[in-house]
Amino acid sequence: MQTAVDSTTVTAWMGEIAAAVRAERDHLTQLDAAIGDGDHGINMNRGFEAVTKALAVQNGGLAPGKLLTIAGKTLVSSVGGASGPLWGTAFRRAGRALGDAPTVGAEELVGALDAAIAGVVELGAAALHDKTMVDALVPAVAALRAGLAAGQALEVALAAAAVAAEDGARATIPLQARKGRASYLGERSIGHQDPGATSAALVMRALERAVCQVR
Ligand code: ADP
Ligand code: MG
Repeated sequence: MQTAVDSTTVTAWMGEIAAAVRAERDHLTQLDAAIGDGDHGINMNRGFEAVTKALAVQNGGLAPGKLLTIAGKTLVSSVGGASGPLWGTAFRRAGRALGDAPTVGAEELVGALDAAIAGVVELGAAALHDKTMVDALVPAVAALRAGLAAGQALEVALAAAAVAAEDGARATIPLQARKGRASYLGERSIGHQDPGATSAALVMRALERAVCQVR
């Protein structure tokens, strides 16, 4: 089995998310101002800055799954909005799926991402097309799985996954929100891109960058 992810990759992934969220903070906040309460960029920025700090004090030796669990716990404790518990659960579930393994293959990575989505759905009860982060994550992991099944290299399949997440985020524009704060707007949520789906696409793009960096 070819190694897909090790501890260095996870640390790089969290660093790439933090950088992307920092760069897109105002954009995410603007998207949330249109159909929510205008704090999504602030929430994600605060959360992933805290994750970066929490991982920086881990001086090596921890398995990728353990690092993801720390990231998840940090998000839960540092982010007040809905995205804190949702992303916190996602990373904790991914961490639990990977367990203590020091290195992880592509199949296990897909399994961990599936577990992350299952955690988000269990907590938030969002279905596909409810205009949430799920609308970016589900097509992304489907594209990753399909790419790997077709024999693509992990980097290539992850690039396709990131594109699928970005397409999924854009496809939330015509949808009416059925979960979260945006759902309170009813039909007025139509015509705006979901902030959480937008940041979920950043998370998937960051994974591609991290894997390419480390391999
Ligand atoms: P809050 O809505 O508490 O202010 P954020 O602004 O940080 O939290 O996050 C909003 C995003 O969270 C939404 O754009 C949406 O993608 C996601 N979200 C909200 N509720 C749910 C849910 N029940 N399931 C999945 N995602 C959700
Ligand atoms: Mg908000």
